[in-house]
Amino acid sequence: TAGTPLPSRDNAALAALAPWPDPQANKYTRGKLSLVAGAAAYPGAACLAGAAAERAGAGYTEVFCAGESLLAVRSFRPSLVARDWREWHPARQEARCADRTGACVIGCGFDGDARQRELVAETVRAATGPVLIDGGAIGLMADKAGQRLARERAERGVGPLVLTPHGGEAARLARGAELEGALGGPELAVGLARAYRALIVLKGPITFIADAEGIVETMGRGTAALAKAGTGDVLAGIIGALLAQGLAPRDAAALGCALHAEAGRAAAQELTEICVSAEDVIAALPQAVRAIV
Ligand code: AMP
Ligand code: MG
Repeated sequence: TAGTPLPSRDNAALAALAPWPDPQANKYTRGKLSLVAGAAAYPGAACLAGAAAERAGAGYTEVFCAGESLLAVRSFRPSLVARDWREWHPARQEARCADRTGACVIGCGFDGDARQRELVAETVRAATGPVLIDGGAIGLMADKAGQRLARERAERGVGPLVLTPHGGEAARLARGAELEGALGGPELAVGLARAYRALIVLKGPITFIADAEGIVETMGRGTAALAKAGTGDVLAGIIGALLAQGLAPRDAAALGCALHAEAGRAAAQELTEICVSAEDVIAALPQAVRAIV
């Protein structure tokens, strides 16, 4: 309601969420992230999201991408396990990881073809862990059929759904769900959270995180240095990694947005707001971890 300050956790509260590894940890117990990303035209999105996920602590990051993108992912970062997205079977994947933590991120570098639409639908239907939908996959959810998929998933009570739209993608989601009126920032985020029964991370200079009950977090600590292609893929990888490590969606989104904003600022301090690129934000993540947690 008007006049109520929007919530924003301080560093001490965020630090308490940090996924420090247990001394007995192995790469699987630290969380397996399945990243379905990188159409032939956009292999870079899969590279950036995958590298960011590793930096954010995911123990094992598997990238399912277009065949044409495999070489780019493998040469960008050999520690990523890259597979053709024909091998992505969410139901089988989840069964194999039943005793472990894990999550799926889908949509970074999607351009919306029929195969990708099927990948998104199959993932929302069959993945039992947390699923984060970003980039081109958001457009594929932005209609009545997508809304129905999301709501049916919520009714089954399997893993939570997180959507990370920027302003344009949020407007598409609103049209797809036939939300009435021109909603701004926080109201739009809450409206979408109710319409799609998902956690919404509405990105911008100020980022609004909402669930059906209302705004759960705002993040205004970023920098215009982040207004550059690829930074959204980095954010999706970070939040996905935190989900894979067992953080609740609200916590993963809050800590992920804070780390992303802080990394952007640290990179800008060193490189100027003009020169920062998405790769630099990934490289600055250790500084953000030190500053926040
Ligand atoms: P995307 O549009 O998907 O690439 O995501 C862009 C990312 O950069 C989001 O996390 C935004 O919150 C962030 N961002 C973009 N522009 C700005 C800005 N002017 N100030 C702060 N953060 C920004
Ligand atoms: Mg994006």
